[in-house]
Amino acid sequence: MKPLPAASAWTRSKPPLLRFLDNCLSEFSAETSGHVADYIPELGKADPAYFGISLATLDGHVYEVGDSRVPFTIQSMSKPFVFALALDLLGAGRVESAIGVEPSGDPFNSIRLNSENHPFNPMVNAGAIACTGLIYDSKGAEAFEQIRLALSRFAGRDLAVDEAVYASESQTGDRNRAIAYLLKTNAVISDNVAGVLDVYFRQCAVLVTARDIAVMAATLANRGINPVTGEQVLSAYAISRTLSVMTSSGMYDYAGEWIYRIGIPAKSGVGGGILAALPARLGLGSYSPRLDKHGNSVRGIKVCEALSSHYDLHMLNRSDDARNAVIADYDIGKSPSRRVRRPQEREILAAHEQEVRIIELVGTLSLSAVDYVSRRLAGRPRPQFVIFDLHRVTSTTRAGARLVAEAFEELAALNVTVVLSGVRRASKEWNTLREWTAELKNVRDFYLLDTAIEWAEDQIVYRYGGSIDFHETTELAEQPLLAGLSEEELTDLASLCTIRTYQSGAKILASGDPADALYFLRSGAVHVTLPDGIRLATLTAGMAFGEMALLEQTRSADVFADMAAAAFVVPLKDFERFRKQHPRASECIMRNLAQLLADRLIVANAKVDILTAT
Ligand code: GLN
Repeated sequence: MKPLPAASAWTRSKPPLLRFLDNCLSEFSAETSGHVADYIPELGKADPAYFGISLATLDGHVYEVGDSRVPFTIQSMSKPFVFALALDLLGAGRVESAIGVEPSGDPFNSIRLNSENHPFNPMVNAGAIACTGLIYDSKGAEAFEQIRLALSRFAGRDLAVDEAVYASESQTGDRNRAIAYLLKTNAVISDNVAGVLDVYFRQCAVLVTARDIAVMAATLANRGINPVTGEQVLSAYAISRTLSVMTSSGMYDYAGEWIYRIGIPAKSGVGGGILAALPARLGLGSYSPRLDKHGNSVRGIKVCEALSSHYDLHMLNRSDDARNAVIADYDIGKSPSRRVRRPQEREILAAHEQEVRIIELVGTLSLSAVDYVSRRLAGRPRPQFVIFDLHRVTSTTRAGARLVAEAFEELAALNVTVVLSGVRRASKEWNTLREWTAELKNVRDFYLLDTAIEWAEDQIVYRYGGSIDFHETTELAEQPLLAGLSEEELTDLASLCTIRTYQSGAKILASGDPADALYFLRSGAVHVTLPDGIRLATLTAGMAFGEMALLEQTRSADVFADMAAAAFVVPLKDFERFRKQHPRASECIMRNLAQLLADRLIVANAKVDILTAT
């Protein structure tokens, strides 16, 4: 095995995909078979040595090697984009009734029509001329500009026309003229054959680079959103139908072989370009003018073959494990909220711990992921509350969102409340989901998972007859930390305390301050937070805070009043004096403290365990 590169070499090294494209470039440059197209005389002038490759990812990164910025004419690679444009401009019904979607098995310039005297599909010349004709019918003199603008939006920059190539094809394109007249006699295009052909020849002469083609392909692979500009260029419907015809007919009479071997929807042009769009993954553009007998770039095909086989990208060779979507699944017995509960509340929650179920999800909520989650839920005792934590969910497919809505409906019928946490309010997924669940009364959401769990716990406490009274006042005797102290000891301790009151929101303790007093919450609620904002605990009347002063000299967390609160406060030096005078009480307190800390540790361990075990 080769030694790993030194650290400095590694930081300067190329990303592996770029290295892969480099290797393709050097390896396939040796390939000199094929011929530059010259039936359009101006195309024959192209330098056969040109070779450029570019790959665009769906997060908008563009890799480029070789002559990736050399302009050449788009030719037939314009066909998928113009078809997609026609679908959106004129409506699918109109376009689909004029042009078929069956592979012809014929060369690109075949003059044969199907049994209805319509073009076989929009990827061969007859279908493409018909498509342009439909746009011309509706837009007239504006037609070409509309097409040029659409192509430009796919590329993310303004594209121009190679006037020489346009003029050259316009003078010599008699075969296309013949096709257009045939379409006219069959009423596929209207009268103005010359006008339609003029637009078609111009659209074929639009100048692009391998880089442009990669971005255009990536836009197709990304449901019509240009990953570089972020623009939704055309509808997802038009894009998916376009990819469909690219799959069956994009490579002319080599289409079957292409999809069998390479398995990536693609389109070629006689200018030497190949465009390949792998849905949800990437877009590839290559430029090398020598063509094989089908009119496809020889080196371009080699690049696509290498990409598909090296990275195993055949689109029909995929799998997915929906179980990865669930990273944790537990109930409040295993991992309660951070709210420190009083004994009565704790008892109720312990008796009903299975009634609040928490499922933490990750990644994309796809059809299979949501189906898997719904079966997991059905397989166990039915909880009253199901909390779905979506902090780590990055997206939802439409199928996933549909299934989520249906699952929520099912849960509503069973009187199960659904609580969502971690939903970013502005996200598209949230809006779709909200639209579909608008009628449901059983869906709540809280941004923080802990808040969601705390809320569900409160509901369980209420449902089983408990009460949560933040305004009740508790005495020192009710403090778990002081359990076991005699009346006399408690009276002595009380004489050392002062009662302090705090307004809602007040900062009671600040991390970094000297830890010089203990606090026994008499009424209200406070929360303990780390300086970075992580909430450690919510405490209510009857609980101690700042008790860590017994173990450490500086405060490690902030404490805020959640509402108006009052506390008995004992300065540490007085408390230490009290402990000396009452050794039995002191031992009690330290044992209670050890118990409280142990309880906290058990909860913390359970939380770590949940995330590492699932
Ligand atoms: N303009 C060319 C033609 O119609 C496009 C053909 C192609 O790229 N395959 O002949």
